[in-house]
Amino acid sequence: MKRMVFCDFDGTITVEETFVAMLKRFAPEAAAQVLPEIYSKRVTLRQGVRQMVEAIPSSSYSDIIEFTRPKAIRPGFVELLNFLEQESIPFIVISGGFRGMVEAVLEPFLDRIVAIHAMDIDTTDTCLRLNSPYESGTEIVAKAEIMATYGADETIAIGDSVTDWNLAMAASLVFARPPLTQYLEEQKKPYLAWEDFFEVRTQLKSYLK
Ligand SMILES: [Mg+2]
Repeated sequence: MKRMVFCDFDGTITVEETFVAMLKRFAPEAAAQVLPEIYSKRVTLRQGVRQMVEAIPSSSYSDIIEFTRPKAIRPGFVELLNFLEQESIPFIVISGGFRGMVEAVLEPFLDRIVAIHAMDIDTTDTCLRLNSPYESGTEIVAKAEIMATYGADETIAIGDSVTDWNLAMAASLVFARPPLTQYLEEQKKPYLAWEDFFEVRTQLKSYLK
């Protein structure tokens, strides 16, 4: 059986949400204007994120990476990776943020992660240009579509927010933190609640028995 783990980055692997914090710091005017539009659903995530990201000067890119690098990872992450390796279960990260931000935080673990899916950023123009091979519908990074490309028999999703909702709905087993838990309850999709990756490991251990 082909079993795989698909994990969100922001607010899931990291304790804090790093992407919105980055937008507020590096594109303050665009963020002040566009974020409320996204929250009130007048603008899609896809349109809004593009607008904010493409307002950031390319000269800020290396500062963005250094701003993200020291962000704390939730406890138990290494232990979960160890456990998945023992069980030969591949671990894949799917993020709606910048690839460079994800790679900066996960640098010590890159050789243990099968793939990172995220936005690619081009810095050759005055302002950032974003590229995402899986842009569709209202999303810049369509997580469920990416998961589907792996053709796994059993998919295990780990996430924390509404941007993980499609991924969670399509997964065989879901580990959810709030506010994702709320959306799943509304849809009556079963999930396992978790606080840190030690809990994910413990619950996964008993699930696999
Ligand atoms: Mg998240």
